[in-house]
Amino acid sequence: MYKKILVAIDLTEEAPQVLEKAARLREAHESTLVLTHVVEPVGYAYGGDIPMDLTELQDQLGKAAKDQLAAYGNQYNVAADQQIVTVGRPESEIHRLAKELDIDLIVVGSHGRSGFQLLLGSTANGVLHGAVCDVLAARIT
Ligand code: AMP
Repeated sequence: MYKKILVAIDLTEEAPQVLEKAARLREAHESTLVLTHVVEPVGYAYGGDIPMDLTELQDQLGKAAKDQLAAYGNQYNVAADQQIVTVGRPESEIHRLAKELDIDLIVVGSHGRSGFQLLLGSTANGVLHGAVCDVLAARIT
């Protein structure tokens, strides 16, 4: 049913739980799996008001992300051309990729936040709103 699944991972120790779920869905649906990580622009973190060239730091973050995706790609059998590192806001980039790559299911992790924490928002929430395909929020335990 799902021909092309996009799994979005942060690079924390929680990523394998999300990958595991996506890999099982791939088996069940005989889908192609696309793996992505979105590197947030370093300027955002510093409010853009530090007078220094952040290009090198940005490049290093991008490279570290590519290496990490390659390692997961190896482990979960995702071809190199299906591993995508982009720069931007995770929600927007995930939506863009889903459209461009004709994805029919997006898999993200979710902490199942409630109450006050929910008000702070989450990537899973952001991805769900405005997605043009199904979204699976894999519960992180
Ligand atoms: P969060 O709401 O930030 O705790 O993230 C929940 C889930 O959103 C993660 O398990 C990932 O599936 C996805 N996610 C968060 N940040 C990123 C990112 N920078 N790139 C890709 N996916 C992400």
